[in-house]
Amino acid sequence: MSCIFCEIIKGNIPSTKVYEDEFVTAFNDLNPQMPVHVLIVPKKHIACVNDMTEDDVNLVGQAFFAAKKIAAEKGLENGYRIINNCGEDAGQTVKHIHFHLLAGKTMGDKII
Ligand code: 5GP
Ligand code: ZN
Repeated sequence: MSCIFCEIIKGNIPSTKVYEDEFVTAFNDLNPQMPVHVLIVPKKHIACVNDMTEDDVNLVGQAFFAAKKIAAEKGLENGYRIINNCGEDAGQTVKHIHFHLLAGKTMGDKII
């Protein structure tokens, strides 16, 4: 199975890395939708939230904790948004669980 995010994590495909720890790698989105658009990607290949097991609960918490550290590092005092897309209707295009960290200007209308 080939997975673009697994290849980025292994360093086989280049990316602009902004953060890494034992649980996650974070890099700039290739097609940024905001001035700050970072993808926080658990190192373990999990296709989407539906494929999580109880063993993965800490991993997802670690991804949010990484978001906090990246936000502090980038000085995002005005706030940020974290988005996860799971499945077809949500428009998930890369089938490796990830969290979009968006910031840098006032965001438009909220869905929720
Ligand atoms: P999704 O739609 O699955 O929630 O988000 C996938 C994101 O991955 C998109 O925002 C897309 O721009 C980004 N992306 C896809 N391929 C690559 C890549 O090779 N490198 C980087 N840095 N981002 C990618
Ligand atoms: Zn993967």
